Amino acid sequence: MAPDPRHPHPRPVLPGDWTADVLVVGGGHAGVEAALAAARIGCSVALVTFRLDLVGEMSCNPAIGGLGKGQIVREIDALGGAMGRLADATGIQFRMLNTAKGAAVRAPRCQSDRHLYREAATRTVAAVPAIRMIEAAVTGLVIAEGAAGGGGRGRGPSVRGVRLADGTELRAGAVILTTGTFLRAVMHTGESQVSGGRIGEASADGMSLDVARLGLALGRLKTGTPPRLAAESIAWDGLEEQRGDEHPVPFSFATDPAAFPALAQIACHVTYTNERTHAIIRANIHRAPMYAGRIEGVGPRYCPSVEDKVVRFADKDRHQVFLEPEGLTTNVVYVNGVSTSLPAEVQEEFLRTVAGLERAEFLRHGYAVEYDFVEPSQLADTFAVRRVPGLFLAGQINGTSGYEEAAGQGLIAGANAALWVKDEAPFVLARHEAYIGVMVDDLIVSNPSEPYRMFSSRAEYRLLLRQDNADRRLTRRAAAVGLASQAALERVEAKEQAIAQAKVALDKLRIEGKTGSEFLRRPGVALADLESRVPELASLALSPEVREGVEIDVKYAGYVKRQEESIERLRSQEATELPDDLDYAALSGLGTEAREKLTRLRPRTLGAAARIDGVRPPDVALLAVHVARHLRTKTAARKPSMRTQA
Ligand SMILES: Cc1cc2nc3c(=O)[nH]c(=O)nc-3n(C[C@H](O)[C@H](O)[C@H](O)COP(=O)(O)OP(=O)(O)OC[C@H]3O[C@@H](n4cnc5c(N)ncnc54)[C@H](O)[C@@H]3O)c2cc1C
Repeated sequence: MAPDPRHPHPRPVLPGDWTADVLVVGGGHAGVEAALAAARIGCSVALVTFRLDLVGEMSCNPAIGGLGKGQIVREIDALGGAMGRLADATGIQFRMLNTAKGAAVRAPRCQSDRHLYREAATRTVAAVPAIRMIEAAVTGLVIAEGAAGGGGRGRGPSVRGVRLADGTELRAGAVILTTGTFLRAVMHTGESQVSGGRIGEASADGMSLDVARLGLALGRLKTGTPPRLAAESIAWDGLEEQRGDEHPVPFSFATDPAAFPALAQIACHVTYTNERTHAIIRANIHRAPMYAGRIEGVGPRYCPSVEDKVVRFADKDRHQVFLEPEGLTTNVVYVNGVSTSLPAEVQEEFLRTVAGLERAEFLRHGYAVEYDFVEPSQLADTFAVRRVPGLFLAGQINGTSGYEEAAGQGLIAGANAALWVKDEAPFVLARHEAYIGVMVDDLIVSNPSEPYRMFSSRAEYRLLLRQDNADRRLTRRAAAVGLASQAALERVEAKEQAIAQAKVALDKLRIEGKTGSEFLRRPGVALADLESRVPELASLALSPEVREGVEIDVKYAGYVKRQEESIERLRSQEATELPDDLDYAALSGLGTEAREKLTRLRPRTLGAAARIDGVRPPDVALLAVHVARHLRTKTAARKPSMRTQA
């Protein structure tokens, strides 16, 4: 079978002693989804991670979802992944964010019980017979030099497995690295610097060296986590209470609403920093590793440390502090909003100036972690490393931040590693199909200068990419490659049918001289209003999710049509492949920045080229002309040989 041109490499010839089709390094959020996805597609999988008791660990905030991220979780669920079901089973507070705004930006979020989440993730992976879980430290990659063959593109080194700390070699058809914040990781608290990717876990320096040895460009980023406090030491009375939704909506399309939520629900509380807090932070700012120059990595701009907030927003006299219980049976409280790497004694001093925290007992101090990431522009849209056959990367190793982003990437990498091993066509999501598609495209056409996280504003087609329709967008495609189950497919078909039936009924209705659909489009009119007036509609007994689907389809029909037309216009640009061997340096007329970035990033299509920052419309026009000429030359060159054959 000819190699699929969209896979960057031909299929490997598996060695006789291979242990798994797909080997995943790391049992975090990316690793869990990668292993599960590869197994769903029919591969045998080895999941190797430092500690099996920390599979699915939430390194930072015990929360899933949020703006932009909640949509990713719904997409993961529609693609057969686990994150939505895990969140539903372990959530202790659920909220739909942005309900006052349009349907396009609504997003689910939950607080999870950290321990239960980890246990549920471990059980989910362990229950899959095709996955073998191995507790070990991976110290390097097993590389075969120049063995891959494949028309020149796979001539370099290819990955055949991994090496463990005890010297054992595990062989596999494909290896997915999902090592998170662990590459050459250093944890900082004030002047103290300790090697390690997360409290209690080592740094993976060998892996970092091996990745660099393969010639991959690495960058350095940082992230941080706030202190954890003892619940009984907090004066809760008088603090603002924040409750979850009265009628919570599950993440997973498979969760039975009647059995949801599964756990008792808790309240969070809000308090505020004040001028005294800020004065202490300012007086000690020179002791923060970032400000003292001990950290070179860039941190997340949208999730800044409290010292960053005090410096960057000097005019603000207070910042919110959310007190979030980490579970139902623990006294650990996560102090959201005050991520910090100031010295331990300074953390205690400034936090005790905050109302309610005057006698706070610290169970753990905040810290920052600095780590290597692999520049994601070296990846294909399958998350395969373009120059190293058999190697895939997913999660924080690609310069992202967040559980949801990691899980979404893990699913795509796991699916594609499996499809590559099985010699089947890749599974790629486009920007107009999914937030996950937006993330993949954003990552591979540029390199993050700070940890990349999802926002709804990153998606130009966000009216199409809603949380409510993730199943309608993705489940059929997922089922076609084995990612989603038959039951999921039947569920979405039934939902589509019910929505279609309701829309036909609406169109037949006449209310005040208008069709039911026209009437529903009026501002302030809800489908429930019509149901109470029209017995035919009420008799359809629509479920809440079908009702939501109908309402959004009808109310937003005009906008959706315009977005679909815009996608159609861009389709030809998106479908125009740029030749692999295109010599941008030799193309006269390209802007200097465009030439430099195109040479470095090597976009796959004209559409991807157009999205690179610094590539201007005239550069794209020039590329389009060049590609057309290139194609004509190629076709002309092929003609004589066809005649010869004849
Ligand atoms: C201190 C800290 C603060 C954070 N703060 C935030 C935040 O504020 N906001 C936010 O969105 N995200 C934050 N994160 C990031 C969030 O935890 C990650 O984005 C997410 O967990 C990434 O998932 P992942 O699967 O890529 O990696 P991880 O969840 O980190 O999982 C990596 C896994 O790989 C394993 N591993 C690594 N190297 C090896 C090896 N050589 N051999 C075997 N196993 C290995 C580890 O044990 C771990 O199980 C923070 C992370 C940390 C550590």
